[in-house]
Amino acid sequence: MSVLFSETRAAAPVDTTAGENPEILAAGGILTVDLAALRANYKLIADALSPTRAAAVVKADAYGLGADKVAPQFYAAGCRDFFVAHLGEALKLQPHIGKDAVIYVLNGLQPQTEKLCADNNIIPVLNSLEQLRNWAALGKTGNRKLPALLQLDTGMSRLGLSEQELKELLADISLLDGIDVKFIISHLASADNVQSPQNHAQLERMQAALKLLPHYAVAFSNSGGSFMERGYHFDLARPGIALYGGAPQENAPNPMQPVVSLQARVIQCRTVPAHTLVGYGGSYETQGETRIATIAVGYADGWPRHLSNKGAAYYGAVRLPIIGRVSMDSITLDVSALPAGTLKLGSLVELIGAHQSLEQVAQDAGTISYEILTSLGNRYHRNYINDILA
Ligand SMILES: *Cc1c(COP(=O)(O)O)cnc(C)c1O
Repeated sequence: MSVLFSETRAAAPVDTTAGENPEILAAGGILTVDLAALRANYKLIADALSPTRAAAVVKADAYGLGADKVAPQFYAAGCRDFFVAHLGEALKLQPHIGKDAVIYVLNGLQPQTEKLCADNNIIPVLNSLEQLRNWAALGKTGNRKLPALLQLDTGMSRLGLSEQELKELLADISLLDGIDVKFIISHLASADNVQSPQNHAQLERMQAALKLLPHYAVAFSNSGGSFMERGYHFDLARPGIALYGGAPQENAPNPMQPVVSLQARVIQCRTVPAHTLVGYGGSYETQGETRIATIAVGYADGWPRHLSNKGAAYYGAVRLPIIGRVSMDSITLDVSALPAGTLKLGSLVELIGAHQSLEQVAQDAGTISYEILTSLGNRYHRNYINDILA
């Protein structure tokens, strides 16, 4: 595979398809994932957090980038703690990382999955007393304490023990006797915004709860929290988006290396006169004579339909605005800024890369980098570069 699919660097414009692999040309675009950048991002966070340990959140197929490819890179960089959302994701991930790594399931423990979870040495996050009792009950049948994380809701109202449930637990602390609690965890709702008073409010609630509980290790921070002051770090942090090159905090410089670049294939070029309608619904009308290139990426590839008549592609440093609606399988670009004939059938334009960051795309689309990444889809030719494990 690695010989057949030669490395394609994202930034360099390609003017000809001569000599290119037909299997690559057969896809509408090329999604390049820089595995060295993933490792560097993990190391940057792990070093900054030390002695706090850094986990890697690899839920949603490692934010859309392929957990089977991505997780081994974090493992190679020293990571031994992996978080996914579902037990199903944990079971799929397990063969791809070393046996000394631990996988935790954030979404909790579903009834009747307890044995599957325990038999595979997956560690659930217990989000309620019901889940805690079910896990303890299974442990009792085998005369052992099963490992788990215990999540407290400190103000997000999404997952974890409510204040009422915490009170119940404190009233009967023996409930914990049957569980090997590895970490008490909670999750920050506004860590992307250092200014938000919610951060400190959640930290205070966490500290107050910890005082009432027996002493356990603590895991508290996501990417944003990992870049806040020490008090937020505790024993284990759970960065996700920052590992994939996303900005951990908004309105602050992004210290992470870009991981993803995306190129789209030109499938047709045309020149149309002024007052020509473009795309579904005729939502764009040309002002003057306009050169249009159609590219083979659409909303089915995770390019948001919200970018209709908004946002752009790039050819080198030249901005090529999206005109008309984003279709399922294609997008029309105004390429009038390029000399005639520059783009040809099979040329590549940049959608994410040196000239247009993931964050910029997310901002143009009115969403967050997480949603762009996890939507990218399966139709691209995926090019994993700088694999030290290959
Ligand atoms: C997704 C998630 C993370 C990672 O968050 P990022 O913002 O991507 O760093 C950490 N903890 C929990 C509970 C999560 O759901």
